[in-house]
This record gives sequence, C-alpha cells and structure tokens, in this order.
Amino acid sequence: MAARFRGLALTFDDILLEPSASSVIPSEVKVSTNLTKKIKLNVPLISAAMDTVTESSMAISMAKMGGIGVIHRNLTIDDQAGQVRKVKRSESGVITDPITLSPQATLEEANMLMSEHNISGIPVVNDHRLKGIVTERDLRLETNLSKKVEEVMTKSQVITTKVGTTLPQAEKILKKYKIEKLPVVDKKGQLKGLITWKDLSKIKMYPAASKDENGRFLVAAAIGVGNDMLQRSTALVAAGVDILIVDTSHAHHKNILKAVPLLRKAFPNKELIVGNVATASATAALIKLGADAVKVGIGSGSICTTRDVAAVGVPQFTAILECSKAAKNSRVPMIADGGIVFPADIVKALAAGASSVMLGSLLAGTDEAPGDIIISSDGRRYKKYRGMGSYEAIKVRGNDRYFQKEVPEGVSGKVPYKGSVSGVVKKLVASLRTAMGYYGANEIHDLCNTQYWQITGAGMKESHPHTVITDADEETFH
Ligand code: IMP
Repeated sequence: MAARFRGLALTFDDILLEPSASSVIPSEVKVSTNLTKKIKLNVPLISAAMDTVTESSMAISMAKMGGIGVIHRNLTIDDQAGQVRKVKRSESGVITDPITLSPQATLEEANMLMSEHNISGIPVVNDHRLKGIVTERDLRLETNLSKKVEEVMTKSQVITTKVGTTLPQAEKILKKYKIEKLPVVDKKGQLKGLITWKDLSKIKMYPAASKDENGRFLVAAAIGVGNDMLQRSTALVAAGVDILIVDTSHAHHKNILKAVPLLRKAFPNKELIVGNVATASATAALIKLGADAVKVGIGSGSICTTRDVAAVGVPQFTAILECSKAAKNSRVPMIADGGIVFPADIVKALAAGASSVMLGSLLAGTDEAPGDIIISSDGRRYKKYRGMGSYEAIKVRGNDRYFQKEVPEGVSGKVPYKGSVSGVVKKLVASLRTAMGYYGANEIHDLCNTQYWQITGAGMKESHPHTVITDADEETFH
C-alpha cells in the first residue's frame, strides 16, 4: 500500500473569483456574520491568539471595530485571565465588577490603582457596601499620601442608581447631577456596578462594537488541552471570557476529541471554538462533539513551518471548501485561519465558505499588537511577529500546541509597522465591501454563490501590478 491521491488542492493565490451581475452598492452591503452559532460579529475579523498579536489592547480595539480578539495563552493562567478582565472592564456600559478600595486604603494606593487602570474615580466599599467614592479631584491637593481614603472621599450625597438601570436612564442621571460616575447599588446598599460618563460617550463612537448583553466588549481566549486545561478555562470564565478557543495544531487528535466533551460539560453555557483542522472528517467529528465553530488551517500561516517539517496540510482554499461542506447541514460556522496576507484573501476565504477570518501577520504590525516598534538602520519601522511554535515563543512557556521543543514549527521575524489597528481594519472592511459589489453579494453568506477559476502563474502575475516600476519598488531600490 502507498499514500492515495486525493486530488488537486488550491490555495488563495491559485484562484480568482468570477464577477457576477450585480446591483449592489458597496457602502450598503452587510458585513456582519456569525462567529459561532450564537455569537454575531459586525465585521468578520478575528485577531490571532499569538503573543505578538493579541493581548487586551488588541482585543479591545478589535471589539470596538466590530470584530474580536483572542487572548493568547503564552501567559500564566493569572496573567491571561487578567488580560480578559481588562477587556471586560474597559469602556463597557455597566462595569459589573468595578475596581474598589476599602475606606482604610491609603491615598497612595488609590493613586496607584487610578494610574494602573487609567481611571479617575474609585468606589469605596466595606464588606461590599458602598461607603463613598474617591476621585482624582479628591487627591489632587493632598500632599500626605499616607492619609486614609475615608478621610478625603465623598461620603454624603453620593448619587447612586438601582440595579437594572438602562444606559439612557443612567445618562439622564449623570447629566442631571453633573457627575461622572454612577455607582449601581442593590437594596442592601451593596455595590453591584458602576456606570461612567467616559464609557457612555465612548459607546457612541463605536456603534458597531461587539458587545455582550451587559454592554461589555466581547473577548475570546485560547486554551490548550494539557494538564491545566480546566484550571485555565475556569479562571478565564471567572474573568468573563465569552468564548473559549481550543487552540491546537491538529484538532483531529484523540487528546482533543477527549477534551472537547469535558469542556462542554464543565462550561455548558460558554461558546466553544475548536481548531485547527483541514479536512471534512475532522470538521464533522468536532461538530458532533458540540463545537460552536471550527477553525480551519493546517500549515497555512505566514510564520508556519509545519508543512516543511511534516509535509502535512491542505492548501487553504481547498481546506475551507472541504470543511465548510462538512459543516453545511449543522450550520456551525467555519473560521479561516492562516495565510490571509492580502485583503483579497479574506474575500476568497469567505467565498470558500468561512464565516469569518483570523488574522496574524496582517495585524501584527499595528500599535495595539504587543511589543515595541523596531527601527532598522535605514529608518524603516517594523514590529516583531513570530510563530507560537517558534523557538522564541516556545521558550516563554513549554508550549503544548506545537508539540516538541526540538522541532520548531514556526519562525520569528518582523512585519512592517502599520499604525493603529482601527486604520487597518477600516481598509480591510472597505476592500471587502468593494469585492462584494463585484459579486452582487448583499451579505457575506452570498459570497458562497460565486464561481471561481483556477489560474496559472501567468494569471497570478497579471493580477498584480506588472511591467511598471511602482513607487513602492522605487523605494526599495534606493
Ligand atoms: P497568518 O495570519 O498567516 O500570519 O497566520 C496566523 C495563524 O498561524 C495563527 O492564527 C495560527 O493558527 C497559526 N500559527 C501561529 N503560530 C504558528 C506556528 O508557530 N506554526 C504554525 N502555525 C502557527
């Protein structure tokens, strides 16, 4: 016996989509999608669970823009849960778990908390009961920072509201009393939340933001299936994570198939995404076990050396086609992960049947990705980008996704600096809208009706600027 031929497999560069008759105006198309069966996103973009891509700052910006970020797991359990908590606490409608101080805390502690979390006021509680509120203004003129908070806080006449107050009601109260912070208290006087003017005004700036039912940003977090799986997941769920993502390089593996039911049982109400896979049979197996979405991509990532090491993978366009066919009846969404390096790749992935796409290299050069800007000797700016299976990333933590330390399955490198992630996301969404106009697609799902051609190398060459020395080329010559 020998390996059997499966057929010709295609990657994004091998195909072009055929234009269709259209009456679609790009600015009017809907780019919302299902991330999982239950959770919707207003834009189909996810930032990758990588330590040079997604921590809280990226996740917050992605959620603001209508996408979502997946906090990577090259962190201790506490640190990863802390990142999730930062996202859930930021600029939400009602902060359900506000930072508090005890009346006995010192002004120095108050100062530190305010600058650490970039907040201007903190409710003061004793045994969960609201005792007052201390603000930057109360601290400004104090020189003796060892004073107790209770000596300077506003105690009487703290305006509060009851549990269940809606955001428009809260806005009226804030305006009426000209205050910036509105503690939410229950009948026993216990602090149950905080509504702030700053958050309310920011909400209006991001009408497409991805939010949970309490108005907090949606956030996902990656987990492995090692010994700490349940402990890590429990901490993430306690921190408020909306989606757990089983982040493995080969999800069609006994260890993962055993882990999924355990997670389902432990967290029946949490959305669970499982990946990565590249075949119909793997997709079907994960759907059967209750995955709420399946992530597709083996060996397709821009920093990935899995195919060099193990000869394994299915070129990504075909992999998405195959997996989404297997998912069709269940309507479990597919996420295309890896190899999306041009805006057009997003359109091709969605046309192949993915409902959303996960991005690593396209977002790693932004301000919100962890790490500083690197300036090269010729003055160009970059940011570090590395595979989670690269030597460097494995060194941070004995990682279990890309099994052995001896054989890295990823490389380390850098990508051009790109400014803010909101600028990048806006451009990607604008490209997607333009594309949808060519196919008469009013919604993302309509892209699945397109037809595609396999193209030759010459076709690919024709698809990019050719025979012209572009201004960008000119820059590299000099
Ligand atoms: P990119 O968008 O093409 O840069 O690919 C990002 C994706 O590559 C991630 O979401 C992961 O699925 C995958 N990935 C991350 N690190 C590694 C690695 O070290 N080896 C193989 N694949 C990786």
